[in-house]
Amino acid sequence: MGFGRTHDIGEVSSEMIGQKVILGGWIEDLRKLGKITFLTIRDSTGITQVIVKGEQNDKIEGLNRQSVLRIIGTVQETRAKDFNFEVGAEEIEVLAKAIHPLPIDPLGRLESNIDNRLNSRALDMRNQKTASIFKLRHHVLSSIRKTLIEKKFIEINTPKIIGSASEGGANLFSLDYFGKTAYLAQSPQLYKEQMTIGLERVFEIASFYRAEKSHTGRHLSEFTSVDIEAAFMDYTDVMGVLESLIMEVFKFTSTNCKDEQKSIGHEIKVPSSPFEQLTYGKVLDELNAADQKLEFGDDLQDSHLRIVGERHPGFYFITDWPLKLKPFYIREKDDDASLSRSFDLQYGYLELSSGGTRLHDPELLKSRLKEQGLDPSQFADHLRAFDWGMPPHAGWGLGLDRLMTTLVGLDNIREVVLYPRDPDRLTP
Ligand code: ATP
Ligand code: MN
Repeated sequence: MGFGRTHDIGEVSSEMIGQKVILGGWIEDLRKLGKITFLTIRDSTGITQVIVKGEQNDKIEGLNRQSVLRIIGTVQETRAKDFNFEVGAEEIEVLAKAIHPLPIDPLGRLESNIDNRLNSRALDMRNQKTASIFKLRHHVLSSIRKTLIEKKFIEINTPKIIGSASEGGANLFSLDYFGKTAYLAQSPQLYKEQMTIGLERVFEIASFYRAEKSHTGRHLSEFTSVDIEAAFMDYTDVMGVLESLIMEVFKFTSTNCKDEQKSIGHEIKVPSSPFEQLTYGKVLDELNAADQKLEFGDDLQDSHLRIVGERHPGFYFITDWPLKLKPFYIREKDDDASLSRSFDLQYGYLELSSGGTRLHDPELLKSRLKEQGLDPSQFADHLRAFDWGMPPHAGWGLGLDRLMTTLVGLDNIREVVLYPRDPDRLTP
């Protein structure tokens, strides 16, 4: 016997009654009634009942749930009300045995806490709710790629091991690189900007690293970012790209991922477009009207964003932030140099994305670095490219994991990341 199957379980239907099939999957349930065993077998596409009689019964004697079987049998009519057909087993092969008890109940009948589930993530993936989250994540990634490729963006891969701090931040992991200190990239910022020379519109979907001791439901040490950068675009243009990308993700998954929504127990609702746009100034007024006593230039803390999020529960942009709150590469507004051509995309209190128009003039960029207490000589490799015909450009970074939490309606980012990394979790 080999390992092969003729059908995924999801492909078998009641129209195939009388047909011979070879299936493979995991025992989800097993009930013995006299000389007949009723098996429920699940693979990643579906579930079926299998009837085992006679000497084939001996082969499955004493097997535990989640053991792996290969079944040669015939599709037949069933009296079970949960199924449209069943399979009468003619030959059974035990391909793998599972232990009992398992570290978590993969059927979710016994609720396991998130830490236990993450410690046994592969088994947790046999829970249909968990598997559905990651199937959705796959569809989100493919929808994002499709949208950006249609908009003529080129997918790139930038290095994750870097020689100097890309944004001057202190939140970098360092590592030994053949006797020198290297860092894990916190974003592709400088590389993607450089790639607007030559490729014009680029995107990257990759892991990035932040050495922040955050213990929240929205921060991880390793997260997946979707980044774009586009020549000849302003921040309002890339906000448009971001909004249509999010709309496509919600439309695609709400229409095409019905089973996943059912398993998760959450209906994906397409948001209304266009997204509301509030300036930072307007947000400040709203907060001060709610007795927050903020002054121009103050950053919006989590507590502030919670208040704003109550009033604006869905997707909305906060635009035109004070220049001094934004990184050195963000360009100021022409009519008011204290403001920047920048935005955050919010979902209620949750920041999903930051972006803006970049400085493309090397002299302005150098003086901005100095203003922010950074040393231009540390950015020499990057600044060189600005003398080679750097086009005006704009872009953003979108936290994919955070976007996933909004899509599936869960608060904890760990639910949507396979093996999350945070200050307390480095294994498995
Ligand atoms: P926050 O203020 O929420 O910590 P940030 O402003 O530091 O985020 P950016 O540098 O603007 O983050 O990164 C762009 C996007 O990447 C964020 O809007 C967010 O969606 C995502 N992101 C940033 N840091 C993390 C993290 N530690 N874990 C998960 N996602 C993150
Ligand atoms: Mn940000």
